[in-house]
Amino acid sequence: MVPKMKKPEKKCEHTIKAMCIESDGSFNCPQCGMSISPDDVNDDNYQIMDTKVVNDELAELVIACGKCGCIIKLTGFQQGFDA
Ligand SMILES: [Zn+2]
Repeated sequence: MVPKMKKPEKKCEHTIKAMCIESDGSFNCPQCGMSISPDDVNDDNYQIMDTKVVNDELAELVIACGKCGCIIKLTGFQQGFDA
């Protein structure tokens, strides 16, 4: 009998700074390049995993790419409003 070694599935994880996102909020998955638009809530392109709100402002958004399953963290939203 050969013991079957189960390969640990390593999920990729990327962090994208909000300042690097297009003005309409869309960006491409760093892994598979699929276009993801967080404003499009009816889209199956992504799945929201977690959101972090600080002082009533979105500080971090964690989503999973619907195509490759990559975890993508969007951070730095507050720094985007540098008027
Ligand atoms: Zn992807």
